[in-house]
Amino acid sequence: MLWVRYFFHFILENPKYRIAISKLRMSAHSLAIETGRHKSQTPSDRLCTTCNVLENEMHHVMYCSNFDALRKELFDVCRKEIRYFDQLKSDDRRFSKIMELKTIPLANALGRYLVEASLALS
Ligand SMILES: [Zn+2]
Repeated sequence: MLWVRYFFHFILENPKYRIAISKLRMSAHSLAIETGRHKSQTPSDRLCTTCNVLENEMHHVMYCSNFDALRKELFDVCRKEIRYFDQLKSDDRRFSKIMELKTIPLANALGRYLVEASLALS
């Protein structure tokens, strides 16, 4: 399903999902890892204000306690769309598999997560 990676832009159920995924991939987002870079903060100071750990893309998608309920919905889709999702050796690997966006339902689920997480913070 390699074509999905290149054409998911055109087939997601909501155009906002495409934009949110693209921004995450391009580091064009408002997570502290990037906003701190613009403020010349050291990485150790680029913290999630809720969890008090480095706020990067992986924290946002995999761990941030602000989005536990949303993450449950995302991971439910991951378990259907990514083979052996729970058995993968690490969260790094799980995050990489999510970001590969190999299926349309997975891309939609990540897009929905990112959009709704963003709305939850605003
Ligand atoms: Zn957090």
